[in-house]
Amino acid sequence: MKQTNSKKGPLYMVGMDSVPLWILEELKDEKGMQAFRKLLSDSCIKNMESTLPPMTGPAWPSIYTGLEPKEHGVPDFFVMKKSYTPDIVYYDSSAVPPFWKELAHKGVRCLVITPATDITLPDYDNVDMITGFPLKARTNSKELEGLMNKHSFDGEPNIEKEIKAGKMDVREASEIFAKSVSARSDIAISMMKSKRYGFSYVCFTETDRLQHFVMNKNDWKRYLLPVYSEISKYIAHVMQLIDKNGGRLIIVSDHGAQPIRKKFLLNNWLMQNDYLFLKEKVRKDFMKGGGKKLPAGYAVRERIMKSGLRNTYDKMPYHMKRAAYKVFSTVFTGAAAAEYTRMHLFDFDMKKTKVFAAISNDPVASIWINDSRFATPVVKSGKDKLIMELKEELSGVKSSDGKKMFVNIFDGKDYYNGTKKFIAPDLLVEAQKGHTVDIFNFSKESMFMDPEDAKSGDHIREGIFGTYPKIADTDVSTVTDVKNFVMKNFGVAR
Ligand SMILES: [Zn+2]
Repeated sequence: MKQTNSKKGPLYMVGMDSVPLWILEELKDEKGMQAFRKLLSDSCIKNMESTLPPMTGPAWPSIYTGLEPKEHGVPDFFVMKKSYTPDIVYYDSSAVPPFWKELAHKGVRCLVITPATDITLPDYDNVDMITGFPLKARTNSKELEGLMNKHSFDGEPNIEKEIKAGKMDVREASEIFAKSVSARSDIAISMMKSKRYGFSYVCFTETDRLQHFVMNKNDWKRYLLPVYSEISKYIAHVMQLIDKNGGRLIIVSDHGAQPIRKKFLLNNWLMQNDYLFLKEKVRKDFMKGGGKKLPAGYAVRERIMKSGLRNTYDKMPYHMKRAAYKVFSTVFTGAAAAEYTRMHLFDFDMKKTKVFAAISNDPVASIWINDSRFATPVVKSGKDKLIMELKEELSGVKSSDGKKMFVNIFDGKDYYNGTKKFIAPDLLVEAQKGHTVDIFNFSKESMFMDPEDAKSGDHIREGIFGTYPKIADTDVSTVTDVKNFVMKNFGVAR
């Protein structure tokens, strides 16, 4: 069968969320990992730099568009509002189209299955698609719909809540994730058999979802292996197609992962260094609890924050919040004691707070100066000086093992270059290996905290880019280079 649409035959793209080179190296000799073993022994895969912060939300749109977050408008899963409330933000693929739109217009037939962060069905021809994480999967193809029904696939399993609540153990979660990978592989293989695609892309985010829960367990490999070996099987199938009919495979991961030993409490640090202030009532309650925890009523608030009521609660005026958790305390009871207390943006006294961290709860944290972009600006002049002072102080902070806490401090001015698309962070700080940054927990006694189950693993800045057959020098070193590589593959110069 002769493949058309590209000078070199079809292009297959496999996307994996949160897969660094080192995990593949660790797993490659295990059962079912033949395809990865072959790719690694031929040095087909190398590191690829992610966005700042290295997160699914901004990184995949950069892969699809070749644009940086300041240009595609997605800096994280949320953006900061003038009123200090984070607002959810989605990649808008109709405003900033993914590269497959350009391919489709050039007559390349595309198969796109669950592309992470692209939740919009194309309003143009030549693309058969199942939409991606984080919304429910939808399709524009009758054939795909039939296959989704056949494989009982309606999107990637949303089981994080069950795992967090202890209702599902990670072994079971791993099996469910592996099944969903295999369903998607089967769907893709069936589609590729029945139609000729010039470009086909299948993306798996199960890797990331699982890794957050298992990376610091001793037997982490046994949880990851079912999922990785299913992906390996799919890749092996594609490699066979290429060996027989030509074409090329690219393997892409948006960022990497690492085990987490400690969390650094960044807003707690900002408070203790007089950059951030709590509302008077909260501060008093906090001090009454010995600077460790708030009275029992506050625990009810946490239940509300974690429930479906969160959106409503977030937008309530402060006095209503306090009334609301009194009312809900009859519904949500039995709060657990903890040595730390969780605070939220609405607990901060923004008429006094000069600096705060928000949104990114990741090894790369985002910090804002409370200036005229916000409702009650405190920093009216001397912003540059304040940033310099902060950088210097943050450079001196030590990690839990006595090393430098922050290995990199990036200037928001450089990275976001005055973008008008969102209120950009002023500083981005990258934590030492083995650490992640926590922006919610406070304690007078400690700047560190053991990670909860869902933070057993967290991200690193290096994802991967791989090619089969191998291309020695691909010019792909960051997520924004992938689009250009793809377009060149189809003979489209930029
Ligand atoms: Zn990701």
